[in-house]
Amino acid sequence: MNYLILTDLERVAGIDSFRQTRTTDNEVKGPAMKQLAREVNACAQGIRQADPLAVVDVIDGHGSGGLFPEDLADSRYIRFKEFRLESMPQYAALLFVGQHAMAGTIDAPLCHTYSSLHVQYYRLNDVFIGEFGAFANWAGLHGVPTIFLAGDDKAALEAQLFVPPIETAVTKQGKGMEAAEHLEPDEACRLIRDGAARAVRRIAEIPPFARFQPPFVFEARYYEPLKPETIRSRPNARLLDERTYRIETTDYRELPFF
Ligand SMILES: [Zn+2]
Repeated sequence: MNYLILTDLERVAGIDSFRQTRTTDNEVKGPAMKQLAREVNACAQGIRQADPLAVVDVIDGHGSGGLFPEDLADSRYIRFKEFRLESMPQYAALLFVGQHAMAGTIDAPLCHTYSSLHVQYYRLNDVFIGEFGAFANWAGLHGVPTIFLAGDDKAALEAQLFVPPIETAVTKQGKGMEAAEHLEPDEACRLIRDGAARAVRRIAEIPPFARFQPPFVFEARYYEPLKPETIRSRPNARLLDERTYRIETTDYRELPFF
């Protein structure tokens, strides 16, 4: 069966400052990228322990690149922007590695919602939503369950809010916006491998998450007044005030999640 892993850089063991993730300089974020690859490879190993014929695709979800493609062992590298949304139904399950909590979460290191510099919150059908819920719902709308998350303890709690039976691997304890207590990298990888294997064995117990059904009422609030180009890039958006817009649609792909 085919499995999809969605990655982000922020929640990798050992990373707790935006200086390590916001840069486009691979010298600075290189060590984080190396650890993310180790965690992704551990996740793929765990999947294959439970399903030896598994085919694993990996989406690099970090804007400026969070993985060196050559570091991935036996899985296919896909940039987020190049992922074909229509390909979702081919997957047996979705897994998250290196994930962080949504913006505004207490003591959640590097928490953000898509843009750490600009977005105060996203709400979908009256519920605060971050990157986990947004992508898990796209998978769920296609009948694909989200079975595993590796990240900090607050990201794991957020995943359990949306998908109560999900398997998680907690690689760090959040102590503040840029503070965390980390597991040793090897220990983090061991937890991820074991957790991913358990998740695949439990796949039938974890229903697809698709609580958000059309019509979708989406609201985005920014830290600063919206720039004219942000508004122009979203012709279906209606301004509620200078920092907030709303989109009403029946097409999930029109929401700014992808
Ligand atoms: Zn992110």
